[in-house]
Amino acid sequence: MTIPKDDKIVVENRPFRPQLPSFLKQRIPKGRLFASTKNSIQDFALNTVCEQAKCPNRAHCFSRGTLTFQILGAVCTRSCGFCAEKFGHPNPPDPDENARVVEAARRLHLKHVVITSPARDDIQDGGASLFADLVKRFRAELPQVTVEILTPDFGGKIEALKIIFDCRPDIFNHNIETVRRLSPKVRSKATYDRTLWVLKKSGEAGLMVKSGLMVGHGETNHELIETFKDLAQAGCRSLTIGQYLPPSVRHLPLFKIYTPQEFDFLKTEALKFGFIEVTAGPLVRSSFHADETAVLRK
Ligand code: SF4
Repeated sequence: MTIPKDDKIVVENRPFRPQLPSFLKQRIPKGRLFASTKNSIQDFALNTVCEQAKCPNRAHCFSRGTLTFQILGAVCTRSCGFCAEKFGHPNPPDPDENARVVEAARRLHLKHVVITSPARDDIQDGGASLFADLVKRFRAELPQVTVEILTPDFGGKIEALKIIFDCRPDIFNHNIETVRRLSPKVRSKATYDRTLWVLKKSGEAGLMVKSGLMVGHGETNHELIETFKDLAQAGCRSLTIGQYLPPSVRHLPLFKIYTPQEFDFLKTEALKFGFIEVTAGPLVRSSFHADETAVLRK
């Protein structure tokens, strides 16, 4: 198949998730690690984005004993068109939650943790202090564990970002989600330029910067390549590219399913901009196999 480099890709307008091709079907491995991961989430009364966002990989990831912790509750103050997180007025943060995250990571013998949160525009610093508190707890209690935080944009507040810079996570991850043209449709309050600014500031602060996007919203290859360029220029070193799948009929429609070969093409194009690592594939998500990332060894 010849894959065009310009913006001539055929956009298929599909109203909802069609019959999925085999490369989008995740096998359901279960077993001892699956059970212990599920039990730990329940025993420590924690949220995971794996479950809150209905990630298609959760059986796969739980079966290898990996997960992404979601702190700051299960309700988001934004309502992005692609996302399955609940939207509404969240409760105040749970003061004991971070301690339970560390205990769950200890029980699961995690070597690398990924921590995210919903957008918390109701909190002055957007939750940055609680991310920082959790990174510090890991440094103090499980110093062998590497810590990746996947954050919202904190409303673009530099004071909140400085709190994140000071806590020195091993990886700072903030997703751009889609191309410039589609950002207002796909994201509710975050903007393309603010995301680039957040990534740039984080790189300038010396953090290892990662970002990710989903394809299938109707973007063109040309727009994707422009986005790779913008991310690289903003200092992003690690990139994930995965297939968007609507969580329900109420979410944004699916315009295109990319083949594994098309993901290979996107990876090749992105690597030309100098990323240390690009992970691209139908089932890739920003935290998919995050424990294997090469940037941790840089
Ligand atoms: S890819 Fe990430 S969000 Fe999805 S199940 Fe795995 S760890 Fe969770």
